[in-house]
Amino acid sequence: MNKKREPHVRLGGGTSAPYPIATSPAASRVMRGNTRRDTRPEIALRRALFGQGLRFRVDYPIRLPSRVVRPDIVFVRARMAIFVDGCFWHGCPIHGTQPRHNSNYWLPKLARNRQRDLQTQTALQNEGWRVLRFWEHEEAQAAAAIVIGAIRSLARG
Ligand SMILES: [Zn+2]
Repeated sequence: MNKKREPHVRLGGGTSAPYPIATSPAASRVMRGNTRRDTRPEIALRRALFGQGLRFRVDYPIRLPSRVVRPDIVFVRARMAIFVDGCFWHGCPIHGTQPRHNSNYWLPKLARNRQRDLQTQTALQNEGWRVLRFWEHEEAQAAAAIVIGAIRSLARG
């Protein structure tokens, strides 16, 4: 499995809007979740990889010319960066629903997230990094199998 994954981001423009008040407890949880690291899907993928004998770095800073990026999982020697993207924040085609409440705030914000995802991915690839992205809804064992396949295909040259 050495096929490069296409970035799942879509580009969009937008203007900024004032920070809204959460319209429901669920929205409030989602808003708080924005800054959290080590989400459950990330941890599940790390466990699956570790269980398969792979060793990697967590919270490893990759210094790019334009900025520092901290992917969710980094294989330093293989130069492989892995992201586990939240379905809401990164606009998953299945779960990335368009918020109806405060949409003048959310839509530009989500569009900016997707734009940043694409810029980050391009910046990493320009520096010779391979990038794999998974949705948080993807099953950890299946994602781990893709990562392991990619690492092995690198090892074979
Ligand atoms: Zn999803």
